[in-house]
Amino acid sequence: MFKSIFSKLIAVFIAILVIGFSITGTMLYYFLGDFVSTEKVKLLERSGEEINSFLAEYIEDMDNPLVLSTFRYLLRSYRVSTNSLIWVVDKDGYIVVTEYANPELGIPQQVIKKLRDESGYLRLPDERQYRKVMLGTDPVVERGYFYGLFEGTRVPWLTIQKPFRYKGKVEAAVYLHTPIPEMQRARASVFRLFMASVAVSILISIVLGYVFSLRISRPLKQINNAARVIAGGEFGKRLSINSNDEIGELAKSFNQMVTALENLEDMRRGFIANVSHELRTPMTTIRGFIEGILDGTIPPEKQNYYLGIVKDETNRLNRLVNDLLDLAKMEAGEITLKPRSFDINELIRICIIKFENLIVSKNIQVEANFEEEEMFVNADSDAIERVMYNLLHNAIKFTSENGRIIVTVHGQKDRVLVSVEDNGIGIGKDEIDLIWERFYKSDKSRSKDKTGTGLGLAIVKNIINEHKQEIWVESEPGKGTKFTFTLSKGNGSK
Ligand code: ATP
Ligand code: MG
Repeated sequence: MFKSIFSKLIAVFIAILVIGFSITGTMLYYFLGDFVSTEKVKLLERSGEEINSFLAEYIEDMDNPLVLSTFRYLLRSYRVSTNSLIWVVDKDGYIVVTEYANPELGIPQQVIKKLRDESGYLRLPDERQYRKVMLGTDPVVERGYFYGLFEGTRVPWLTIQKPFRYKGKVEAAVYLHTPIPEMQRARASVFRLFMASVAVSILISIVLGYVFSLRISRPLKQINNAARVIAGGEFGKRLSINSNDEIGELAKSFNQMVTALENLEDMRRGFIANVSHELRTPMTTIRGFIEGILDGTIPPEKQNYYLGIVKDETNRLNRLVNDLLDLAKMEAGEITLKPRSFDINELIRICIIKFENLIVSKNIQVEANFEEEEMFVNADSDAIERVMYNLLHNAIKFTSENGRIIVTVHGQKDRVLVSVEDNGIGIGKDEIDLIWERFYKSDKSRSKDKTGTGLGLAIVKNIINEHKQEIWVESEPGKGTKFTFTLSKGNGSK
């Protein structure tokens, strides 16, 4: 992994560098091509003007050999002071005068070859080399190889052309060419610097790439190792990556995930322990009594009594398994509600009647506090009956003899609040959040109620959640408990 991230980073860095450097390199190359001190241009231009003014003065006397040789002398002195080749070129590009009587003298051999035309005269071979100046452009400045003319010399040249006017018309032009090896030297030294900076940049990018990839790959490796350990079932491991970037986020989410997994695993373990405990207790009882009956430890006259207990325990087991299955189905979302509009008051009355025997035997006073005669709600009536049944059963179980239970129903905007209140043992503050969990029973309730499994409220909560409604509890130990749940209002009559 490390290798691939590293090589990818380096590849990207180098690609960026190459693109960047090629662009600047090309730009520099062209910029340097234009770069020659303006002083030199000015000097050549002034010399061109002087030569032109001599020509203007003596053009008519050029046939005079004395004048001509003076002119050549003048050209020679300018050649020496400006280090340039100086030509007078006519309208058709022919070189008509140079400092020597034989014009080929002083011109580099490679250039002569290009200048010589079929009849042996020296003529600029490319029209672009004289058209502009003959049209009157003053001055024409060219840099480089002058359309290929100086190619053979391997040095770029600066060429200045000054048009010469006779009677208002351009008849010829003075050309001054000077080699500019500085330009090449500058190019060479810039190129050297450029290559050095390329090398340094690539080196830096490799180092940076290495550091970056290490910073990315190290935490990734840590996460990978931690994931492996956790996959092995060890949930104690947490990552300590504190960077503020996406990797830090990933580590944070990873830690959250491990905590969630750990909780889930704890829940699973606890659940299995609870289930096996709840199953084992009644089964031990059943087995003990049946063995007692079979081997005669329990005398025949007491057998019916113990078989009665066995029957109760079997019922309890049956209920436990059914409740567990229902809970599992609810949590898997396999139970679909069939909501309809029904009268909740009627349902409560029927529920209370079911507990008549228990209520009477404990001499509990039950008060039904209905706001209206009928109160229609929209819900799954079987499920709500189960909720009511468990809440009432709890209230009766956890209330002492001669206690009091109040069931209240009252409408509030578009919902209905149903509460079941008792003045029983109450629930401690530290327990109140736990009662909704499966198998949870407070220690006090264990002694009071031996039949419960602690699944009732878990089922209640699930049913109310499925209805997208709320349920809450208020309680004070020793004073009593009040469970309240909401339902959405139904409409119409039965
Ligand atoms: P089951 O409902 O499965 O028969 P259970 O009644 O013990 O068993 P839940 O209905 O889930 O289980 O209630 C969980 C626990 O909450 C009870 O064991 C009890 O400790 C506490 N509890 C519930 N209702 C009351 C109440 N009205 N007064 C006091 N404690 C209560
Ligand atoms: Mg219960």
